[in-house]
Amino acid sequence: MSSHLKEALLYHTLSDGRVRCNVCQRRCKIKPEELGYCFTRLNKKRKLYSLIYSKVSCSMISPIEKKPLFHFYPGSSWFSLGTLGCNFRCPGCQNWDIAHARTDLDKYEAEHITPEESINLTKRNNCKGISWTYNEPTIWFEFTLDSAKLAKENGLLTHYVTNGFTTPQALDLIGPYLDAFRVDVKGFSDEFYKKMCHVDDFKGILKVTKRAKEKWGMWVEIITNIIPGYNDDEAQLKRIASWIKNDLGEFTPWHVTQFVPHLELSHIPTTPVATLEKAREIGQNVGLKYVYLGNVWGHPAENTHCHNCGKLLIERKGFYLSQNHIKDLLCRIKSQVIKLYTGLNRKATI
Ligand code: SF4
Repeated sequence: MSSHLKEALLYHTLSDGRVRCNVCQRRCKIKPEELGYCFTRLNKKRKLYSLIYSKVSCSMISPIEKKPLFHFYPGSSWFSLGTLGCNFRCPGCQNWDIAHARTDLDKYEAEHITPEESINLTKRNNCKGISWTYNEPTIWFEFTLDSAKLAKENGLLTHYVTNGFTTPQALDLIGPYLDAFRVDVKGFSDEFYKKMCHVDDFKGILKVTKRAKEKWGMWVEIITNIIPGYNDDEAQLKRIASWIKNDLGEFTPWHVTQFVPHLELSHIPTTPVATLEKAREIGQNVGLKYVYLGNVWGHPAENTHCHNCGKLLIERKGFYLSQNHIKDLLCRIKSQVIKLYTGLNRKATI
């Protein structure tokens, strides 16, 4: 057995020798000696093993604005890690080289970083905490859970940049140790999710996102990459915005980002800025207080304005802040309390 195999959490063995993985909502039933949909979990002798525990494809220090999380410690730096594989295979994935990689075929050179080493690197580089990002963090659940527990012991913060297809069971295990959940809501129809992600019931993503906020008090921000002809219709955008407002609250940031032609969607044009601006208007009309444009550097809708008086609070230039008038969660201009993450709403008992 490879020294890099790690017995998985959240699985059970079925009477016919298959194992059922309960880490993500695909809930694969995996035959003996076979892998799950994500190619990272192996049924070996009726036990389930992760092939990617501590297997890191990419690590770097990056600003929180790159996730993007705009209302969660603006301007802070994060030790950011990704592994190999994904439980989705989106046809236009920007990180397809790692997300679509077959870790079992060993074609990709990955390094091994233990949870302890990732904590040390986070501290040594003066980062606010750890970001599991670049590909779906749920698929290396065991590694992120061990790391998140250590992060808390060391006074560090944590977050997932996720497609939200985590099971409620997995969320509840890591919930006490996770501070923020940046979730893709890629569309708002079964048709879209079936076509793009091979997901039959996307509402499970919405339920887990709401649970992250309500049960665990995580800070939640939503992103929708707007793809011309796929999810740019007014009705679908309005349904996303309405769900955010009704289920997560009017102060939840919504990032509408520009699609750039890529991979199997190379024939689709770049999203016009006017489409993004229209999406923002839809979000604002529904009642969302903070709708941001993404991937359009220098656009004024990347900045944060007070939802009350309209004053500029944070000016962003790409991934960096050129002005920040928020201190101790108060707008310096009118002392208006801004809805940013405070940690006070955390329900974790560690
Ligand atoms: S984590 Fe992988 S093996 Fe487990 S249910 Fe999801 S896709 Fe299947």
